[in-house]
Amino acid sequence: MPLFGPPNIAQLEAKRDIQGLIKALAYKDAGVKIAAADALGPLGDPMAVEPLAALVKDEDAGVRRAAVRALSARGGVRVVEPLIAALDDHDPGVRSVAAQAVYRRMMTDPDQDARRETATALGRIKAADAVDSLLRAMTDPDETVRVASVRSLASIGDVAAVGPLIVMLAHEQYRAKTSGRSSLAVERAAGQALDVLCDENAVDALQAALDHDDAEVRELAIKRLARIDSPMVAEMLEAHLDDQDPIIRRSAARGLAEVGWKPPSDGTGAHYWAALREWRRCAECGPAAIPLLVAAFPRAQALERSEIQTALVSLAWEPTESDATAASYWAAQGNWDKCVEIGAPAVEVLDAIVKGATTWRERVAAAAALEALGEDRPAPFARIDLVRHALSVLDGDGTDDEKRHALTAFLAEEHQFEPSGHQRLDWCQCGYPSTRILKNGTRELITDLLGFEQDGSDEPAYFCPSCDARRTAAAD
Ligand SMILES: [Zn+2]
Repeated sequence: MPLFGPPNIAQLEAKRDIQGLIKALAYKDAGVKIAAADALGPLGDPMAVEPLAALVKDEDAGVRRAAVRALSARGGVRVVEPLIAALDDHDPGVRSVAAQAVYRRMMTDPDQDARRETATALGRIKAADAVDSLLRAMTDPDETVRVASVRSLASIGDVAAVGPLIVMLAHEQYRAKTSGRSSLAVERAAGQALDVLCDENAVDALQAALDHDDAEVRELAIKRLARIDSPMVAEMLEAHLDDQDPIIRRSAARGLAEVGWKPPSDGTGAHYWAALREWRRCAECGPAAIPLLVAAFPRAQALERSEIQTALVSLAWEPTESDATAASYWAAQGNWDKCVEIGAPAVEVLDAIVKGATTWRERVAAAAALEALGEDRPAPFARIDLVRHALSVLDGDGTDDEKRHALTAFLAEEHQFEPSGHQRLDWCQCGYPSTRILKNGTRELITDLLGFEQDGSDEPAYFCPSCDARRTAAAD
C-alpha cells in the first residue's frame, strides 16, 4: 500500500476496520468518501454515526446521498436528526433518498424511540409529504409513537388526517366503553388534533365521514361539523335533519341549535323538533309533522308514546290503517275495543302490554283484549275471567260492605275459598280479595286472582291487579 495514496476501502471493509473507514470519510476525494460510507452502513457501528452525520452537509451531492443511505441502514434514534435535515437538501436526488430513509425506513424502525422521534421531527418541520406515513403510524403498536404521530399530523395541518383521526377516536372511545382498555393519551391527542384541524377546510372530509359504516364515526363527524360556524355548514346540517340515522339527525339538530339557527314552522322545523324528540313542538309545525310522529310512535317508550299520541290528537289524526301502529295508538288511548277490531296486527302490541305495561290494570285490559281475539295466554294471569269479574265488582256501584259481600259470594261459587270449611277471605288495602285464611289460621294467596311474574326464582312474584301492590301470604 503506497504511503500517501488513497485508502484501500475494499481492504478496510474486508478487515472490518471501522477506525480506518471512519478516517477515510475525511479523505478529500468524493469517490473514497462514498465508498467508505457505503462500507460503513451495513456494519452499523455507533462510532460511525457522528462522522456520517457530518457528511450529510458535504458539498458533494453524491457524498450526501451515500451518508444518508449509510445512516438509514443503521437506523436507531441517533440517526433521526441528520436524516430529517436531509429532507430539506437542495439536491432533489438527496431529498429523494432521504425521504425513502425517513418515511419507509425510520417509521418502521424496530426501535420505538426512533419511530417516535421521527414522527415528532416530521411534525416539527411540518413535512407535508409525511402525512401518509404518519397516518400509518397511528396504528403503531407503541402508544407513544401513536401519540407523536397524531400530534405531528395536527402540526402539519393537512385535512386528509381528519377522517382517519375521527375513525381512530371513535375506535378508542368504543374500546373504552366495551373493554375499558383504551388509550387515554391517544384519545386526548386525537381530540386535540381534531380541534386544530376541523375548520372550514375540513368540511368535505367531515361530510365524507358521515357515510362511514360505524355509527360512532358518523356521530363524531357530525358533532365536529356542527362546531364549524359557517352558512355552508348550517345548510349541510339542515340536509341531515332527515338522515336515516337518528344519531345523525339529533346531532345535526343540536349543531343547528348551537349556531343559533331558528327552526321554521314547516316541514324542516318538524324534522328539527322530531330529531330532538320534542313532539309537541314538532306537531306545532302542522301536518308535515304527522308522518314523523306516526313513524316514531311504534318505537317510542311508554311515556314518549303518550306525548306523541297527544301531538297526533292535536293534529286531529286518527289511524286509517288496521296495523300495529294503529293498535299502539288505540291502546295508548285505552281504547281496547279498537284493538280488538284491528285483529291479528294488534296481537303483538297487546302481548307487549300484557308483559310490560307499568300498571296491572293495563295488563288486565290487554289480556282481556287478547282473550276476545281468541289469544289466551297462560301468563301473567291464571284466570283472566276471574280477575276481570273481581275488578268489575270492585269498580262498580255500592258500599265497601256490599262489594265485599258480592265478592265473597262470587269466590265461594267459584270455589276459590270454602266458607263451609270455616275458611275466610282477606283483602288488599285497595279492597281486592287476595288471600284465603284456612280454619287453622294458615294464609294462602288466591293466585288465580292475582297477576304474577316469574323472575327467575322458583316462586313467582304476585301482584294485586287493582293497585299493583306486591302480595305475599303474610298478613298486611
Ligand atoms: Zn290492591
